[in-house]
Amino acid sequence: MAEMPRNFLASAEILLSCPQDVMKRLCAHFVEFGTVAVDGACSRIDTAFGSASMEACQGCLKVRAEGRDESSLAYVKLSIAEHLLNFASAENPSIVWQGDGAVGQPLPYFREMRVVRTASVTPHMRRVTLAGNNLERFATGGLHIRLLLPRDGITPAWPVTGADGRPAWPEAEQRPDVRIYTLRRVDVEKGEVDIDFVLHEGEGMPGARFGCNADIGDIVGMTGPGGGSVAPADWYLLAGDETALPAIGRILEELPGDAQAVVRIEVADGAEEQPLASRAGLDVQWLHRNDIAPGKSTLLEDAVRKVRWPEDDRRVFAWAGCEYKSFRAIRSHLRQDRKLTREQHLVVAYWRCGFEGDTARREES
Ligand SMILES: Cc1cc2nc3c(=O)[nH]c(=O)nc-3n(C[C@H](O)[C@H](O)[C@H](O)COP(=O)(O)OP(=O)(O)OC[C@H]3O[C@@H](n4cnc5c(N)ncnc54)[C@H](O)[C@@H]3O)c2cc1C
Repeated sequence: MAEMPRNFLASAEILLSCPQDVMKRLCAHFVEFGTVAVDGACSRIDTAFGSASMEACQGCLKVRAEGRDESSLAYVKLSIAEHLLNFASAENPSIVWQGDGAVGQPLPYFREMRVVRTASVTPHMRRVTLAGNNLERFATGGLHIRLLLPRDGITPAWPVTGADGRPAWPEAEQRPDVRIYTLRRVDVEKGEVDIDFVLHEGEGMPGARFGCNADIGDIVGMTGPGGGSVAPADWYLLAGDETALPAIGRILEELPGDAQAVVRIEVADGAEEQPLASRAGLDVQWLHRNDIAPGKSTLLEDAVRKVRWPEDDRRVFAWAGCEYKSFRAIRSHLRQDRKLTREQHLVVAYWRCGFEGDTARREES
């Protein structure tokens, strides 16, 4: 008889002055990402990657995390820890998980990757093909990954599993820079992924510099995957600047033949346009910034406002990825003018003019 796959489990008892309040905040946060049930002092959160059950006791929150594999469990522990530490930041509680997923082990959602090919896609976009082992988990469950980019000339040390479920990072200079990118293609059998790097201007920019200089044999780390994609619909709006072009390209390739997609993409100029393949019916407009700097134009939000939406009862879904200011404008248009529900849209800030990396692009709210 085939053995039943076992679930991976861990638990933690976290000392808190107001455990019930923290539990409520965690539940409120996860409503957007899964199913949440609260029953007095107990609650349960079920997400696509695993679940957490919580019990608010006297001065302590008991949490039980569960995942179908090591990575899923690690994601549950990580997301509970990150949000709990944020919601209870004033008392900085200690979290120590017991159970599966040992401290100091490699992160189960980490892979070391090696550059095997590079190619120019357009004058300002370079494709880097990375090879690594056991990439099956990267083919589903989100389009984007975090790239861990070694600093110039320094052999990196990679993060390992921390006692609280978050990655424990190496010290100072061995610590890689982290930037978010999209998996444009995943070939599990060949053990390869493609990443398309926008070669933008700026200071520092470890991501764009790696994209520009990557050479065969170079090593990077990769964690993930994560992030949302589109929900099933009959009619899609896909909008983005060049940083979102890899995601839009991949989404379009996966749409069914009976779907319609209105696609609006802002790029520097005509030389940055790329062929887009899809079985869906497409209405594509390329928007050229020409002399306007990236992040300074309103082309994308203006084009989104002009889109004609279906007037019948087709299911609609809007997806956008772009610079922070356009992200805010597009999101508020979709929510306030188009009255889309949370299930009908996903708008993400992919970068923020004048800010480095990931933190500043996140919404304060
Ligand atoms: C979910 C997600 C998926 C993404 N996928 C991709 C992808 O597939 N390909 C891709 O190229 N990018 C992608 N991005 C965007 C990328 O993460 C950011 O552009 C990131 O800031 C690049 O890091 P960097 O090290 O090059 O520059 P940073 O060190 O982050 O920034 C240095 C300076 O450059 C500016 N800058 C950053 N990005 C740009 C830009 N695109 N144009 C002009 N100025 C910029 C910053 O404002 C800052 O002033 C994605 C972002 C997210 C959130």
